[in-house]
Amino acid sequence: MKLNLNIQPLSTWLKPAEENKPLIIAGPCSAETEDQLVTTAHLLAKTGKISALRAGIWKPRTRPGEFEGIGSVGLQWLNRAKQETGLPTAVEVANARHVEEALAAGVDILWVGARSTVNPFTVQEIADALRGVDIPVMVKNPVNPDLSLWIGALERINQAGITRLAAIHRGFSSFEKTAFRNEPMWELAIQLKTLCPELPIINDPSHICGNREIIPYVSQKALDLDMQGLMIESHLDPTIAWTDAKQQVTPSALSDIIDNLTLRHTEP
Ligand code: PEP
Ligand code: MN
Repeated sequence: MKLNLNIQPLSTWLKPAEENKPLIIAGPCSAETEDQLVTTAHLLAKTGKISALRAGIWKPRTRPGEFEGIGSVGLQWLNRAKQETGLPTAVEVANARHVEEALAAGVDILWVGARSTVNPFTVQEIADALRGVDIPVMVKNPVNPDLSLWIGALERINQAGITRLAAIHRGFSSFEKTAFRNEPMWELAIQLKTLCPELPIINDPSHICGNREIIPYVSQKALDLDMQGLMIESHLDPTIAWTDAKQQVTPSALSDIIDNLTLRHTEP
């Protein structure tokens, strides 16, 4: 299988905040309140180690009846966080309306979530909404370990004209009970890199781990495999987070995690 994607280098749209340190995208799993989002953004920006602010506005919950995201109002909060911190913003989009609203609100980077990547209809709808638009897009791996679905989603978005494109490796669902919430199955990310060396891959240790304790180890492993960045969930008080409470880290804990990471090509 040959993968022909027309891709611009990651450095054309996102760079590490510090020299010889990994590229970090961070922010809460979900935007919950204006204060939670803006305060978290300020704490992250103050570390000087973050390149972009992430926050889920529309949340793909596995079962109904749980918090499904704050919705469109959160886009205004993200915008305020961006104005006050200077951090570019990233949100998950799962349909054409999300794309239109995020673009209208000035969001800087979009990502396709794992539950959307599995569905070619959904991905095509997102791709069609992106036609003629010049914005960076990141595509998470599908929940199931199917490399073709991941590739197909990247191709659909790329064929809509998006060349500032990256993959996000967030691990795969498994029936096996393991230390991970989502099995990393590193071989699939390696295979994707082999098929398309110019495609940037960003690792998402938060959704792989499912708990904050092992995030440093998975983050280092991803860097050792030459992944080009990390997306890590961070909340000002993870213990009371409305979603993914176990895996989020405070901005200060994140700062310590980053300090202890080493890039493969840097001297110790
Ligand atoms: C998220 O990033 O909060 C999220 C819902 O992730 P995923 O699509 O990887 O489950
Ligand atoms: Mn999450």
